[in-house]
Amino acid sequence: MTTSSFDSSSYIFECCCGERFNNVRAASVCKKCRNYSVWGYTKYVINTETDEVVDGEMPTDEEYKAQEALAEKRWAHEQATWQQEQDEEYRYWAAEQEAKAEAVIEAEEDRLFELQDKMLGLM
Ligand SMILES: [Zn+2]
Repeated sequence: MTTSSFDSSSYIFECCCGERFNNVRAASVCKKCRNYSVWGYTKYVINTETDEVVDGEMPTDEEYKAQEALAEKRWAHEQATWQQEQDEEYRYWAAEQEAKAEAVIEAEEDRLFELQDKMLGLM
């Protein structure tokens, strides 16, 4: 009897961000590793059936910790940059809303002045 879950069981290659692939080549160029792994690239790929490193190099715990510290700084920086962009976008949006509100008020003032002029003219 053959296994019925061939497709899922063939996804045995795991890259350093934890994504599974059915071939080493695809795993070694995983796009998610760039964002989600502390390395910023696919550091290693393991065969989950044998726990063998089939591509790249398995880092030591020290290497991982050092890289993790670097990655946290990088991510914090990216987060700060993102936040700054959000703030700028918000300020731009708020200024735009304010300008619109002012335009409405000015239009209303013009209308009132006009009305006043008419009323004064009638008096
Ligand atoms: Zn990955």
